[in-house]
Amino acid sequence: LPRVLSLIQPTAQSFHLGNYLGALRQWVPLQDDHDAFYGIADLHALTVEMDPQELHDNTLRGAAQLIAAGVDPERSTLFIQSHVPEHTQLSWVLGCLTGFGQASRMTQFKDKVGKAGTESANVGLFTYPVLMAADILVHQADQVPVGEDQRQHLELTRDLAQRFNARYGETFVVPEPYILKSVGKIQDLQDPTMKMSKTGSSPNGLVELLEDEKKLVKKLKSAVTDSGREIIFDEQAKPGVSNLLTILSAFSGTAIPDLVDQFAGKGYGDLKGAVADAVAGFATPFRERTLELMGERTELQAILARGAARAREVASKSVTEVYAKVGLLPPR
Ligand code: ATP
Ligand code: MG
Repeated sequence: LPRVLSLIQPTAQSFHLGNYLGALRQWVPLQDDHDAFYGIADLHALTVEMDPQELHDNTLRGAAQLIAAGVDPERSTLFIQSHVPEHTQLSWVLGCLTGFGQASRMTQFKDKVGKAGTESANVGLFTYPVLMAADILVHQADQVPVGEDQRQHLELTRDLAQRFNARYGETFVVPEPYILKSVGKIQDLQDPTMKMSKTGSSPNGLVELLEDEKKLVKKLKSAVTDSGREIIFDEQAKPGVSNLLTILSAFSGTAIPDLVDQFAGKGYGDLKGAVADAVAGFATPFRERTLELMGERTELQAILARGAARAREVASKSVTEVYAKVGLLPPR
């Protein structure tokens, strides 16, 4: 079976609607016909200053949310990044193959550093894409289901795989991005020209999947729409309405042109109401299941330990092979 791999960073509250529609949701059906590796990227979370207890809780809550979203630990390898030390072991070697110039061209780093400039940024944030490449390559993944914002990092990953293979002989699978055009970029509810993002969005611009139903409905009902009254899909002229149509289409399974027909003659309020119902219809059982799983911490941690053991079988092979190929003297 082809292998898919994707990790997601633990977050302070919960995953947001963009994470879910752009990435997580694809993870579920991919389990049917792929050898799936999924997990929580806790090491990546250290790139921003983080309260230790909070990181610990966020990591467990993240894992619970993956299962609540439909990741099945019986069929998939579900693990925590830091439980598989081979990720960081490979990361060093890949870092030594990455040009400083190439790393400096990562737009996500530039966006995140923003106006503050590089002086106040940490090196971990800068080398984040190299660790991400290691996450993927160490498991020999064929496909990586992510949102559009990860495309450039995936390109770097492919580049590093090819560079390593060319220099040291065939070692890594060169992975393909698995990005769905339709949902790869969910926009901010308050500024629909910007992507919904946990670091970039205002509280009202982003839907937290675990937030209470009333708040969630209120946010969706107060989403910014566009001038005019017509409900049509036009990302340039009507980014707000188009984003709502995208969200509704993803949850309802109704194609966007059919939604446009259904809403002909209706107002923005009707569309927002329908979107709020659709999102709440998913989020309510998702929240209940997550809370239930959080109540069974011991079982959850046992699942993660089994996942890490499985993940390490693959990862340790890769690291042993890589270390030998680059000429590191084996111990003994
Ligand atoms: P940050 O702002 O810190 O980068 P984020 O909101 O982008 O956070 P990540 O943890 O970086 O969230 O991303 C997790 C997954 O969700 C990735 O696969 C990413 O591509 C996807 N994703 C993030 N935001 C969106 C979005 N607005 N639309 C679609 N997919 C998204
Ligand atoms: Mg991101």
